Amino acid sequence: MDHFAFKDGVLHAEDVPLPAIAAAVGTPVYVYSRATLTRHARVFRDALSILPSVHIAFAVKANPNLAVLKLLAREGYGADVVSGGEMDRALAAGIPAAGVVFSGVGKTAGEMRRALAAGIGQFNLESEEEGIELAALAAQSGTTAAAALRVNPDVDAGTNAKISTGKAENKFGVPYDRAAAMYARLSALPGLRMRGLAVHIGSQLARLEPLESAFSRMGDLMRTIRNAGGTITHMDLGGGIGVPYKAGEVFPSPADYAVMVARVTAGWDVTLMFEPGRVIAGNSGVLATRVIRVKPGVSCPFVVVDAAMNDLARPALYDAWHDFVAAQPSGARMAANIVGPICESSDTFAMGRDIDAVSPGDLAVFRTAGAYGATMANTYNSRALVPEVMVDGDKWALVADRIDPATILAAERVPDWLE
Ligand SMILES: *Cc1c(COP(=O)(O)O)cnc(C)c1O
Repeated sequence: MDHFAFKDGVLHAEDVPLPAIAAAVGTPVYVYSRATLTRHARVFRDALSILPSVHIAFAVKANPNLAVLKLLAREGYGADVVSGGEMDRALAAGIPAAGVVFSGVGKTAGEMRRALAAGIGQFNLESEEEGIELAALAAQSGTTAAAALRVNPDVDAGTNAKISTGKAENKFGVPYDRAAAMYARLSALPGLRMRGLAVHIGSQLARLEPLESAFSRMGDLMRTIRNAGGTITHMDLGGGIGVPYKAGEVFPSPADYAVMVARVTAGWDVTLMFEPGRVIAGNSGVLATRVIRVKPGVSCPFVVVDAAMNDLARPALYDAWHDFVAAQPSGARMAANIVGPICESSDTFAMGRDIDAVSPGDLAVFRTAGAYGATMANTYNSRALVPEVMVDGDKWALVADRIDPATILAAERVPDWLE
C-alpha cells in the first residue's frame, strides 16, 4: 500500500499534485512519501513484535537519503551499512552507533578503524581473514569489536541471479561446512567478541521457503557452535523480502514473514536482527519524468522520456519492471517502448508495453522507485545527478539537490602539461 493516488484525475503524492513538484523542481525527480515510509517501517516493526528480542537495521544501500534515514531513525531503526560513506550517513541521521551493523565483503582497514572509533554495534565478517585483521585493529586501539560471522547457506533464493547472494558460488559469507571451526578460531582472538551468525540470501524474494530453509540451516549451525562451547547471543537474518512492482502482484507480507521466523527460531534464545531495505522503501517512491518526444518505431512508437538508466538503473541492470503511469491520464491507451535519452540500447524501461497514451510534454512516473533508485544514480552521458523530494501531507521539500553537469565539470582538472 502507498500514498500515490489520483485525485480529480491528477496523480498526487499524499496531498501534493505531482505536476506541482515537477513544475518547481524540474524532471526527472524522485518523490518519496513520508506517510508510506512511516507506514512500512511500522508494519514491519509491528509484525516482528511477536518475536522476543529484535533489532531492525535498515539496509542503507536501498535508500541512503539523509531525510529517509532520519525518518527511520525516529522510528527506532538501526542501520545496515556497507561502506564508510554509508556509516557516516547513518550517524549523521542520528542512528545510534550501537544500532549500526557493518556488512560487506570489502571493508578496508581504514573503514574498520573508523567504525571502531565510532563504536558501531556489530561487524558482519565475510571471511576469517577479515576477522583476523579486525581483531588486530581493535586490539591496537584498545577496544573489542563485536562481530557476527556471515555464513553462505548454499540456498537458491529463486530471484534474479545478479541479486542472489546465498549460493555457494557467490562471493558472500563463509562456506557453511567450515563456519563452526572458523567461529571457534575467531572467538579465541583478543580484540574480537564473536556474538553470532549472519545470513542474507538475496533480494526481491517472492517466496518465504528459501528464507525458511536458510534460517533453519543457520539454526543447526548455531546449535553445533553452542554444543562446542561457543557463545551466540545474536542471529542476523538479513533482508530480502520482495515487493510488488506490477499492479496486482502479491508478495509475502511482513506478518507472514514474522510467523515463519517465529516458527523457525522458536527456542533460539537470541536477539534476532533484521536488515530490510526494499520492503521499507520500494513502494514509498516514484521517479517523475517528462515525455520529450514520441518517435515512430517498427511495431510501436518509442516514448522518449527525460529519465534514463543513469537515474533508474534497475531495468538496465536486472531487466526490472517499473509500472509507468501518466500523471494526468486521458483514459486512452497506447502500446509503446519507453526509453531514455542515453546512447545505449540498455537505456530501455519497457518494450511493447500497454501504457497510458502520452504526448510530448506530458508528465508520468515510474512507480516503486524508492529502493535501489536514486541510490544507484550516476551522471553517465554528463547528465545531472537526479534530485529527490519528500512529501508530507500537503507539504513537500527538496531532500537532495539536482547536481548539474557544470558542478561536476568544475571538479575536474586539466594538468598543466596538457595545457
Ligand atoms: C542488500 C542487503 C540487504 C537488504 O536487502 P533488501 O532486499 O533490500 O531487503 C540486507 N542485508 C545485506 C547484507 C545486504 O547486502
